Amino acid sequence: RPRVFSGIQPTADSFHLGNYLGALRHWVALQETHETFYCVVDLHAITAGHDPKTLRQRSRIAAAQLFAVGIDPEQSTLFVQSQVPEHSQLAWVLGCITGFGEASRMTQFKDKSQKQGSDRSSVGLFTYPILQAADILLYQADAVPVGEDQRQHLELSRDLAQRFNTLFGRTFTVPAPHIVKDTAKITDLQEPTAKMSKSSSSPAGIIDLLEDPARTAKKIRSAVTDTGREIVFDAEGKPGISNLLTIYSALSGRDIDDLVAAYAGKGYGDLKKDLAEVVADFVRPIQERTRGYLDDPAQLDKLLATGAEKARAVAAPTLRAVYERIGFFPPV
Ligand code: ATP
Ligand code: MG
Repeated sequence: RPRVFSGIQPTADSFHLGNYLGALRHWVALQETHETFYCVVDLHAITAGHDPKTLRQRSRIAAAQLFAVGIDPEQSTLFVQSQVPEHSQLAWVLGCITGFGEASRMTQFKDKSQKQGSDRSSVGLFTYPILQAADILLYQADAVPVGEDQRQHLELSRDLAQRFNTLFGRTFTVPAPHIVKDTAKITDLQEPTAKMSKSSSSPAGIIDLLEDPARTAKKIRSAVTDTGREIVFDAEGKPGISNLLTIYSALSGRDIDDLVAAYAGKGYGDLKKDLAEVVADFVRPIQERTRGYLDDPAQLDKLLATGAEKARAVAAPTLRAVYERIGFFPPV
């Protein structure tokens, strides 16, 4: 079975529908065809400032949600990044074969640092894509499911794998992007041309998996829609309504064309009301299962420790090979 690696940041108290539709549902599906490694990337979550106690709790909530949406600890290796020290160890080595100019071209850094003010951005935010390369390469992943927002970072991972292999001898599998046909890019409800994001969307712009469905219904009701009254799919001309249709279609399994036909002659309000119900039915069981995991943190931590052990069994031999090739002493 080809191997897959993917990670998600514990940067909020809940994942949002963009995370689910753009990434997590594919993670679940890939378990059937791939050997899957999934990581709660807490090292990445401290690149833009954080609160220690909140972080640990968010990592647990993240893991609980992953189990709740269908990541099966028997089928997948699910772990928290900070429990596998090889990630930071490999990141240092990769950082030393990354050009400063090369790293400077990463657009996510430019975007995020512009928002924070470049003097206040950390070096960690700058080197983030190098750590991400280490995450992937440690597991010799064949494929990485990525959203559009992560494509450039995966390109860097591929370059670094090839460069290391050329410089020091074949060590890493060069990972390919795993592109899922019609991967949904979900946009902000209040700003339908920007992506829905844990850290940059306003609360009114995000639908969280763990929020009260009544609150979600309210957010959907006040979602920014477009001029005109017709319910049609037109991502350019009607980004607001199109986003709602995308969510509706993905969660209900009904084709967009089908929905458009069904809502012919009806208004935005009807669509929003029905969508709120679709979302509520979808999140309710996820919320219940997440609560179940969080009610027993000791058991949850144990599942994660087991995951970390399984991860290390793969990561450690990779790091050992790297140390050998570059002239370090073997890790003890
Ligand atoms: P942050 O704002 O902290 O970067 P995020 O919402 O972008 O958070 P990440 O943890 O960076 O979430 O990404 C997790 C996964 O979710 C990635 O695979 C990413 O491509 C995907 N993803 C994030 N936002 C969206 C979105 N709006 N639509 C589709 N996929 C998304
Ligand atoms: Mg992101």
